[in-house]
Amino acid sequence: MRTEVLVVGGGMVGAATALALSQAGFEVTLLEKQPPDLSWSAERAYQPRVSALTRASEYFLKSLGAWQGIEKRRSQAFTAMHVWAEDAPNRIDLTADALGEANLGHVVENSVVQAALWEPLMASPVRVLSDSVSAMEATKTGREVRLSSGKRLHASLVVGADGAFSSVRQLAGIGLDTHDYAQAAVVGCVKTEKPNQDACWQRYQHTGPFAFLTLGSYLSSIAWYLPLEQKDWALSLNDRDFAQAVSQASNGFLGDVMEVGERAAFPLVRRHAQTYVRPHLVLVGDAAHTIHPQAGQGVNLGLLDAAALAEVLVEARQAEPETWCRRHVLRRYERWRRGDNQLVQRAMEGVDWLYTQQGGLAKPLRTQVLPQADRLDFVKQWLMQQALHGRGRLPKACQAGHS
Ligand SMILES: Cc1cc2nc3c(=O)[nH]c(=O)nc-3n(C[C@H](O)[C@H](O)[C@H](O)COP(=O)(O)OP(=O)(O)OC[C@H]3O[C@@H](n4cnc5c(N)ncnc54)[C@H](O)[C@@H]3O)c2cc1C
Repeated sequence: MRTEVLVVGGGMVGAATALALSQAGFEVTLLEKQPPDLSWSAERAYQPRVSALTRASEYFLKSLGAWQGIEKRRSQAFTAMHVWAEDAPNRIDLTADALGEANLGHVVENSVVQAALWEPLMASPVRVLSDSVSAMEATKTGREVRLSSGKRLHASLVVGADGAFSSVRQLAGIGLDTHDYAQAAVVGCVKTEKPNQDACWQRYQHTGPFAFLTLGSYLSSIAWYLPLEQKDWALSLNDRDFAQAVSQASNGFLGDVMEVGERAAFPLVRRHAQTYVRPHLVLVGDAAHTIHPQAGQGVNLGLLDAAALAEVLVEARQAEPETWCRRHVLRRYERWRRGDNQLVQRAMEGVDWLYTQQGGLAKPLRTQVLPQADRLDFVKQWLMQQALHGRGRLPKACQAGHS
């Protein structure tokens, strides 16, 4: 089998990459070891993994024809974010009204985003294989890939979109820079006594942040950050004890937790691939970088990667049809995205330092200076614009009016 582009991994980022490249006229094959279940029922219990999607991601998903699949299933717009530290006198409030926006983004289950991408994907010319990569070799014109089923495939370009533990990255011998936060995020859906007012709430305590992300009036997704050694304890609690522990961890700011759903926990590690590019091979999404999820930017960065890669390849094929998959073209994508991904990773480190350090400069900054920032509307608005719409040069598909 031969293909122009082989995308390995059909999660949110891989599916978006495959769709964007196919819509631009590339011949694409998508390899996914666990294709998603596309059946849907509104009664389905909320899945523990959700993402807060920015406007840039919304525009991109609209341009791919996937946003309507999200709207048809379910999503929740949030109109405010409230952030504060347990030892600070007041909080920072960010509102859509102050920005002149209808909302500050949407909270969507990851499985809903993935299904909304797979629907148009299955109707597109993309060839989908339920398989995984077992070996890979560089050739003069591309990559020879052996699949676990024993099949062989030749691709002019391999896109590694196979997540944090990417086998494409490993088979290409690309190293990682890592930082272990020694923290875990416990996530799941809960019903609270008080309404969440269509907002996301994040309270910083010395062990890490605790967040409620709105999924409906009384329904929220939690992100409870704990020292890593407490992860198994949190997962071992029965529903009643878990509800009580979450009420305590949140300090009851949405009242008691009344009901809890399925939960999951993830150890948190920052990873950055030492390069995104090898001959005829490129990395996107979590295969290239993972960040602390406290500001909900991980998949948003991955979708920016997907849109940027598609834009670079389309421009290159128009300008230089013979060399669109060569290293110098792929390096354009890396130069475009690496700095932004690194900036957001480092910003998360700064926030972590500011909110968790008990001594030195962090404490007076957190408890005395930062609460005053709530009055600095222009600073808040600038920060919100950066988070919602993206920073620096944005791929065209992530801008207003493109879809
Ligand atoms: C607790 C938590 C909360 C988060 N909250 C947010 C948030 O609010 N907003 C946000 O933007 N981000 C958030 N993130 C980050 C976000 O979930 C990830 O960045 C995102 O899921 C990465 O998508 P991906 O498609 O790159 O990788 P993945 O979702 O890991 O997808 C990889 C895909 O590749 C497939 N695969 C793997 N190996 C192979 C193989 N060898 N062959 C074939 N297929 C393979 C897998 O089955 C999977 O489908 C959060 C992360 C965590 C841990």
